[in-house]
Amino acid sequence: MSVSVHTPEHPCIHPEDGSACRSYHPGHNAHYIQARLASENRDRWVRVELDPPHGNTVQATFPDGETRTWWCHDPALLERFHTLQRGDAASFDPGTSLASVQSTPGRRALLHPAVVREQ
Ligand SMILES: [Zn+2]
Repeated sequence: MSVSVHTPEHPCIHPEDGSACRSYHPGHNAHYIQARLASENRDRWVRVELDPPHGNTVQATFPDGETRTWWCHDPALLERFHTLQRGDAASFDPGTSLASVQSTPGRRALLHPAVVREQ
């Protein structure tokens, strides 16, 4: 069985020195303003559950049973997110399209996913 590979709408943006991606498009980095808006609006967060990721993609299940396939430029972040949600449920803020999960007390790991498939 082959795993389909989704092409991101927006590719990574690396500066000339080859350091980390600087894109804030969906699937890339969370912007600090986006993170602030999400943390200020916890009343709209919904619980989301991530399946084990496959490379750059992961299936997310919402409380109403809806599933979405998310793409992230960093497979290690998806792995980390999936591991962290075992300690504390992951959340998704529909307003900023930002997912988060507690990483250490008082801190949350952020995921800015690109939706590649919606069911
Ligand atoms: Zn990127």
